[in-house]
This record gives sequence, structure tokens and C-alpha cells, in this order.
Amino acid sequence: MRLGALEAGGTKMVCAIGNEKGEIFEQVSIPTQTPEITIPKLISYFEGKGIEALGIACFGPVDLNKKSDTYGYITSTTKLSWINCDMVGAFEKALGCPVGFDTDVNGSVLGEVTFGQAKGKDNVIYITIGTGIGAGIYVEGKLLHGMMHPEAGHVLIRRRDGDVYEGKCPYHKACLEGMAAGPAIEARWGKKAIELKDQKEVWDLEAYYIAQALANYIFTLSPEMIILGGGVMHQEQLFPMIRQYVKELLGDYIKTKQIEDLEHYIVPASLQDNQGIMGCLELARRVVV
Ligand code: ADP
Ligand code: ZN
Repeated sequence: MRLGALEAGGTKMVCAIGNEKGEIFEQVSIPTQTPEITIPKLISYFEGKGIEALGIACFGPVDLNKKSDTYGYITSTTKLSWINCDMVGAFEKALGCPVGFDTDVNGSVLGEVTFGQAKGKDNVIYITIGTGIGAGIYVEGKLLHGMMHPEAGHVLIRRRDGDVYEGKCPYHKACLEGMAAGPAIEARWGKKAIELKDQKEVWDLEAYYIAQALANYIFTLSPEMIILGGGVMHQEQLFPMIRQYVKELLGDYIKTKQIEDLEHYIVPASLQDNQGIMGCLELARRVVV
């Protein structure tokens, strides 16, 4: 089965051709400009490649409600030129094949449960901590959409005493994204996140905030595995610190074999940064009838 995959991000669009086994035959990256400039480039990449379907995992917010008139659209994004862009419609029309569509982070969690370390699990969360924070949530064997789709990067967290940084989220200021995404780290400490590598207090605070969100996800969604990806998580020293804070925050209340073994419960992504694009292949496979 020849399938197309498009991981649509705010800075770049990753396009690939692959198959239902998650094998990728070719891949390119195209910078995200305006829809008028970028969409035709994406279409010409996929044209003539003989794909049976295309899977798109897209930055958002997006409309995932199939009964809605604007299903498959990007809705109220901060990338203003992409507001009300009909992603599914544009590709269905141009390529004449079915299009699977979901959020970028749901694409990543789908990649991990279909092809990666979370294979066989029915309840998994994938969180990206990068320019923003988002979570793809797979519950009871399904991608969670609900009313719209989860926006779990914006959960509210408790400020640590002594942290005077006001928070960067334009909507909530000091939500998780506002306090812990890459741009918040850089604004709080006045340096590029990567240059702060050796400053222990930076990562200690970061781990504290991330762990609060994870504890809340554990309490509400009861995941069997939590996968952390995105640029900020390249700071691998965060993992043991996050696990320690999660343990403290759960306070011995949740007693499962997973929580006793946090090293295999809170883990880095397993597919060499291909979890998103591989998830798109699965989104495509699922719309082939
Ligand atoms: P995006 O979220 O735009 O898709 P990334 O996941 O790469 O892209 O996230 C970019 C953010 O992650 C930036 O704010 C950057 O400072 C931060 N970042 C990227 N690489 C690292 C690193 N090695 N260590 C810490 N922070 C990083
Ligand atoms: Zn917010």
C-alpha cells in the first residue's frame, strides 16, 4: 500500500511517501510560509506519486468534527494566514484520494502505538515540549477528540515559590505552556534553552512544572505510558528529575506496576523523531476503504 504522509508544523512541513508498515521511502521538508505559497508546493510533491491516501497531522487548533461544515480546517491558530485554511479539502480535491486528518500530537501518539514502544497499549499520552506544548491522547484504543481535541499543554499549574516569571501564554499567561515551553525558558532565563544546558536550576524548575502536568494527566486519564518529545526534551537530564517530582506529587496514592517502574513509564520518543510522520502513514491507512 503506497501512502502519503504530511506532518504540518508551524515552521516546517514534512512530507513523505511510505507504506502501512511505517516504512518511509522518501521524505522532504518544506518551510511553512502562507497557505497560498506552501500548499501548492505540498500538492506538487504528492502528485504523480501513486498514493492511495494521505494522512495529515496538523498544527492547530483544527476542526476534527466530521459533522461540522469546517471539518478538516485549521481554525483559530496564532499563525494568522492559516486561519480557516481547509487542509483536508485542498488535498482531497487536488490529489483525488481520501485524506486522514488529526492533530500533530495525535499523529505522534498514533505513530508510537502503531509502530513504536507503545505498541499493544490502549492508553498512551505523547507530549511535545517545544515552541509550544501539546499532548496527543490515546484512550481505550482511540485517539481522543472530545468536544474539539485536548489542549493539554494549557493545563494550569502551581507556581513555584520564588519564580517571578509572569508566563508567556497569550491566553493564560502562567499555564504549563506559558511557563515551560522553549520560549518561556528563554524569556525567564534570558538565554537560548540549549545554552542553559549546565544550569541545574533551569532544568529543576522545568522538571517541576512538567511533572505537575504529568501528575494531572495520570490522575485524570490513567495512561499506561507517557512519552515526552520535542526540542526541550533533548535535555535528557530532565527525565530522572521529572520522574522524581512525579513520584513526589503522586504521593504514594497510585499503586500500579507502571508507577513502581517510572523509568519505563515516563520515556523519550522511540522512533528517531519519525513518530509524527509514521503516525501520518497510519492516519492514511485508516481512511483506505
Ligand atoms: P517545534 O515545537 O517548533 O516543532 P521543537 O520541538 O524543536 O520545534 O522546539 C523548539 C523549541 O525547543 C525552542 O524553543 C528551542 O529553544 C527548544 N530546543 C530545541 N532544541 C533544544 C535543546 N537541545 N535543548 C533545549 N531546548 C531546545
Ligand atoms: Zn495557555
